[in-house]
Amino acid sequence: GDEPVAIRLTGIDHHYGGVAALHGVDLEVRAGVVLGVVGANGAGKSTLGRILHGSLRPSSGIREVDGVRASVVPEGRALFKTLTLRENLEVAAYSAGLKGATLREKLDETAEWLPKRLRDRLSVQAAALSGGEQQILAIARAMMAGPDVLIVDEPALGLAPALIDEVYERIGRLADDGMTVVLLEQLLSRAMTACHEVIVLHEGSIAARGKPADTGFAALAEAAYFGGE
Ligand code: ATP
Repeated sequence: GDEPVAIRLTGIDHHYGGVAALHGVDLEVRAGVVLGVVGANGAGKSTLGRILHGSLRPSSGIREVDGVRASVVPEGRALFKTLTLRENLEVAAYSAGLKGATLREKLDETAEWLPKRLRDRLSVQAAALSGGEQQILAIARAMMAGPDVLIVDEPALGLAPALIDEVYERIGRLADDGMTVVLLEQLLSRAMTACHEVIVLHEGSIAARGKPADTGFAALAEAAYFGGE
């Protein structure tokens, strides 16, 4: 595609003390695309997500962004359980520097994206939500900061299959509205369904990249996932 590059990584290496997490990663995140980053436990997804976000400085390599703001939805969500849904969204907006009418506008816009049963429950505590609903609220909270790129870390973790479908459907809708999304995902099949482009990480390196629709890519990606050629 010809979409502009939102974030470009070149020659990224990262190690935590003596533990190597990423090696030689070159990556372009193109605007308006859902990019899936797939890999097994420990492959380096979260590390790559944090480097894309800018909250983790790589051991070496270059990160270039073009006036882009990125938000992360962390694995495990970390909502304020005793606050209401609305308060959770407001706290995120304050942190992003919004107030007054701008904040209310953003809140309305984000509430619009929520499924109706959540929109109708903005005054209940976040603790009362199901796991999938909490995941959707966590994404909504990240949206309150008005990011250009949303990085979502394993949104399916711990969810029942029916809820997973809903979370992914909501993420797809964000992309339809022009948001750039980086989806960190352990399951290759799910990324192949939900993403426009997929990279496969194996032991900290990109072992395959392509589009789910590309001929032969599915087989290539699967072999790469398990460390094959
Ligand atoms: P998972 O799917 O299990 O969350 P991941 O693909 O997100 O894994 P990372 O969390 O990026 O992988 O971890 C990559 C490697 O770096 C692993 O070997 C991990 O143990 C190591 N690692 C990650 N964070 C730290 C840390 N804070 N200190 C030391 N080692 C770390």
